[in-house]
Amino acid sequence: MSAEQEGRDFLASVDRYFDKAAAATSHPEGLLKQIKICNSVYSFQFPIRKGDSYRVINGWRAEHSHHKLPVKGGIRYSMHASESEVIALATLMTYKCAIVDVPFGGAKGAIQISPRDFTVDELERITRRYTTELIRKNFIGPAVDVPAPDYGTGPREMAWIADTYLAFHGEQIDALGCVTGKSIAQGGIRGRTEATGLGTFYGLREACSIEEDMKKLGLEVGLDGKTFVIQGLGNVGYYAAKFCTEHGAKLIGVAEYEGGIHKQDGIDLEALMAFRKETGSIVGFDGSTALEKREDALEIECDILIPAALENQITKENAPRIKAKIIGEAANGPVTADAEQILEEKGVMIIPDVYLNAGGVTVSYFEWLKNLSHVRFGRMGKRFEQGAYDRILSIVERETGRTLTKEERASVARGADEADLVYSGLEETMISAYQHTREIFKSNPKVENLRTAAFVNAIDKVALCYHELGIFP
Ligand code: NAD
Repeated sequence: MSAEQEGRDFLASVDRYFDKAAAATSHPEGLLKQIKICNSVYSFQFPIRKGDSYRVINGWRAEHSHHKLPVKGGIRYSMHASESEVIALATLMTYKCAIVDVPFGGAKGAIQISPRDFTVDELERITRRYTTELIRKNFIGPAVDVPAPDYGTGPREMAWIADTYLAFHGEQIDALGCVTGKSIAQGGIRGRTEATGLGTFYGLREACSIEEDMKKLGLEVGLDGKTFVIQGLGNVGYYAAKFCTEHGAKLIGVAEYEGGIHKQDGIDLEALMAFRKETGSIVGFDGSTALEKREDALEIECDILIPAALENQITKENAPRIKAKIIGEAANGPVTADAEQILEEKGVMIIPDVYLNAGGVTVSYFEWLKNLSHVRFGRMGKRFEQGAYDRILSIVERETGRTLTKEERASVARGADEADLVYSGLEETMISAYQHTREIFKSNPKVENLRTAAFVNAIDKVALCYHELGIFP
């Protein structure tokens, strides 16, 4: 299937989810149309020299909703990118931001390349040229549109984007807030690298903590002891797997670009990463069974399946063979609307992408705030808090006659630094968004699953914004 057709199918899937949720609300039709439609798309081509020849590269930036500014969303480098895919991803960003109360509209960008085909120098030129195109059309800026990393991009690309923007806007004091996901030295924030995977973990842990829901699936309460399979060990997949294993879940299967592996008694994640670095592949890892096709990993019997690579991975074709009880959508759009129907009938619980992978944009929001305030979180209060706890502990010691050990005192008498505050802010965000979404699911009889609940949550919040502007009474 062509990339454009895949993109169209993905957008149709997102729109179907929206329509289902819209029917469970009582907002007027015109307002729902305004919330659903993509506000603007910039599609462009530019040439890049490669050796002695030139390649013409396709690029896009879609701003789905201007109900709040700036708009926000990642930039992906992928041969599968298409205009419809970018619009679909931008659409999901609008809803995602609303669900986790991040005050941005949704956006997404893409460059249709496979980064593997280019040298670092060429990638830098492509990224800087793409950024210049965005600057020319006012599709980037701390108050307008703030990109971030996505599939195939990371802090390196974000640094090139920030540097290019600064070259054009050196006079803007908040210019660094034009992009997030930067390295710390470039104005980034501690905790951003792992944010999406960490948020995925917080979301899964919250879902697994609810007795009523686990009982229905025939599972014990808690993440501890649950088996899981992951597709994609990139930024999101690696950190999701890392936090889940650190909290007692057992990784038993992995799908990566080069193949799939299964090891029922547990895969040591760090050893697997080291093995892949050394050999270039996960296949052949210590005691694991190599699967015939990488996609076969999705069909391993497990408690939780975490697709963390790309969209359209679980379709009506393979959905009947999925044996997981919970699917945690760490990637964007990994389950198609047709597949969802089949999985629902099988009783699978799907924790939707619009909620579960919102950790990235949440911490991007914190990074943007840091860039606007020009101060590291925790810098002003850390020592003061530590001193206050120290004084309280001294009173407790005096009154009880018990002297605390050095370790006991150090564990209580400490002020929060930037990483503590980011982790705490993200944990709070993921827990309250899950509870709110579940509440909608439980209380609205027209809402049939968590995804529809998440969309209803988002639609209500965007609608409120238009109501308050007086555009729709
Ligand atoms: P990434 O490029 O770091 O990692 C993707 C990984 O998937 C790579 O290791 C790649 O080799 C692997 N992969 C590609 N095709 C595969 C296939 N068919 N089977 C198995 N593995 C395959 O990208 P990422 O940033 O981790 O993003 C992954 C997904 O998460 C995307 O859907 C993205 O939109 C979504 N997401 C990312 C963020 C973020 O902060 N990075 C935030 C929200 C959502």
